[in-house]
Amino acid sequence: MAVTSAPAAAATGCAVDYQVNDWGSGFTANVSIKNLGDPVNNWTLGWSFAGNQQVTNLWNGSHTQSGGNVSVSNAGHNASIASNGTVTFGFNGSYSGTNAKPTTFSLNGVVCNGSTDPGEPGEPGEPGEPGEPGEPGEPGNPGNPGNGDRVDNPYVGADVYVNPVWSANAAGEPGGAAVANEPTGVWLDRISAIEGNNSPTTGNMGLRDHLDEAVEQAGDDPLVFQVVIYNLPGRDCSALASNGELGPEELDRYESEYIDPIAEIMADPAYADLRIVTTIEIDSLPNLVTNVSGRPTAVDECDTMLANGNYVNGVGYALAQLGAIPNVYNYIDAGHHGWIGWEDNFGPSADIFYEAANANGASPDDVHGFIANTANYSALKEDHFAIGQTVNGQQVRQSSWVDWNNYVDELSFAQALRQELVSTGFDSGIGMLIDTSRNGWGGAARPTGPGPTTSVDAYVEGGRYDRRIHPGNWCNQAGAGLGERPTAAPEPGIDAYVWMKPPGESDGSSSLIDNDEGKGFDRMCDPTYTGNPRNNNHMSGALANAPVSGHWFPAQFQELLRNAYPPVS
Ligand code: BGC
Repeated sequence: MAVTSAPAAAATGCAVDYQVNDWGSGFTANVSIKNLGDPVNNWTLGWSFAGNQQVTNLWNGSHTQSGGNVSVSNAGHNASIASNGTVTFGFNGSYSGTNAKPTTFSLNGVVCNGSTDPGEPGEPGEPGEPGEPGEPGEPGNPGNPGNGDRVDNPYVGADVYVNPVWSANAAGEPGGAAVANEPTGVWLDRISAIEGNNSPTTGNMGLRDHLDEAVEQAGDDPLVFQVVIYNLPGRDCSALASNGELGPEELDRYESEYIDPIAEIMADPAYADLRIVTTIEIDSLPNLVTNVSGRPTAVDECDTMLANGNYVNGVGYALAQLGAIPNVYNYIDAGHHGWIGWEDNFGPSADIFYEAANANGASPDDVHGFIANTANYSALKEDHFAIGQTVNGQQVRQSSWVDWNNYVDELSFAQALRQELVSTGFDSGIGMLIDTSRNGWGGAARPTGPGPTTSVDAYVEGGRYDRRIHPGNWCNQAGAGLGERPTAAPEPGIDAYVWMKPPGESDGSSSLIDNDEGKGFDRMCDPTYTGNPRNNNHMSGALANAPVSGHWFPAQFQELLRNAYPPVS
């Protein structure tokens, strides 16, 4: 039941929320625009500063300023705002004197009179358009049409597939037998993986071999089969370690040589009783928010992938084709709190997920949920410090570790992102997965209580489980351990803790290693590297002597086992 509301005359209405962090001579503003009228495509928001404020740089949009008059227009990825939808942008500004908040905003020339309070759509104040805003039945449709055969949470009451290739690698390591029966994701990381390519890690099992084995493992019971869809054109645009085989323009090949054959195999009636959980395209969409022009973290390749639309259209195609198979459950990769947790990344990421879920044949009904922390190391729960706490007159958010993030761990991030996604227009039944394969942070270094209250930095440093040098570090992190064992429905809104990244498979080589997989050498995997703007110029924290990404890395597996939390008994 697609809701097609063809507006006869465009109804308008908007509410603007303008939040400021001010340090006396400069400030950061986060602005969200809620559309209380008919869908908007291409927007410009205008206001006047009463003082001498100057916008110095702005993200998720472009701006002009003349005197006190500012006008901000959308970026490519947030051009459309659904009815009741929200888009956000942010900027840094300078000023002297006072920094009064602007009082009047106009959206496409119409003054915004609404309130951003949830539950108040259809605010009065839009003369001549009564009853238009808040059209019934748009966001948050009850029910999940098209998901007829699907269960709400595929992990409940089901076993999860154990990949025999990973299992043998794990069991081959001293002590590894203790975890070798845990389920891990099957990564289709290039076209040849569909048929099986005898690579060092995947062995010679193709997708059909795995699905046949899954049918065996299932017997008469429900079984979840976890597969990672990871082969976008121009893959891994902000890094080099997992660059792939398809060039930035090869969307056609992605569709016809990669997604179509996968969809054909998955649709085989022999596999109809499996619950096939897909993780769709790690890191791709968040890169289009944070690592593009206008940000200090920009990377040319991500600008290319934003401009050519091939990430958005590739994800849309995967969602549409795989989502058309009744026993497939699509989960889109949603980064992790140490990446997406700031407000200037959080809402815009939700917006671009929604854009992809409406692109290239997809609809939000093709999305069953989202996965956080895939192949990352962010702690599940930090018990010894929290957003909202103040220590010695300073907020936890001001500590250098948290650095104004709104979240300190994956569980709180995933639950909040779920809400945000629902308010962006995704079904209220969506669920989250959290990859806990390598976020355990146990061992002797694990703090048992909060740090000293002498300063907010001492407090957070002394109490944090996550022992990374910086939360932007992502490659083969020293000190990490296996996290929570895979578990169904562990917390509200969370469909499962999963091990989507198979522990012991490298994130990238520590130095350049020749290979025929398209993989590059990223210095974030080199323990001697001193960093870049994406990890705020810190040491990489990577283990030495790592093989090419995806290849078995015994020393890392041993360390993950040693530092497991909960410990492996
Ligand atoms: C690699 C893939 C591999 C996956 C799982 C990624 O970093 O690029 O080739 O399949 O990790 O280990």
